[in-house]
Amino acid sequence: MRTRHSTGISSGRRGAQEKIDREDEQRRRYNREYMRSWRANPVNRIEERENRRRWQFERKLREALKSPAPFTNERGKPVCGFCRINPPLREIVRLQVSEIAPRGYVELRIPYCGEC
Ligand SMILES: [Zn+2]
Repeated sequence: MRTRHSTGISSGRRGAQEKIDREDEQRRRYNREYMRSWRANPVNRIEERENRRRWQFERKLREALKSPAPFTNERGKPVCGFCRINPPLREIVRLQVSEIAPRGYVELRIPYCGEC
């Protein structure tokens, strides 16, 4: 029996494609619903924010320590160790793990503008 949409061979292929599209859509909807309910949990939201903050801080610190003379600009003027744009107003101390240091870490003083 032929339906109105049936056009022989190609209808089989189209059917398969429609099935893939449908499954894709279902998966996307499932992921969306899952993330929505995950975020609805306040504990998850707080944890996510903390993770993000920690991650941002670590990235900032890595950036600050990357270059050998990181705390001056091209003209030799002192700059903030994080954004490298603003003039530094104070220093912040960070501990860096060091295998050769007697206490297992060294103190790093990084100039900080207080804004970035
Ligand atoms: Zn800065």
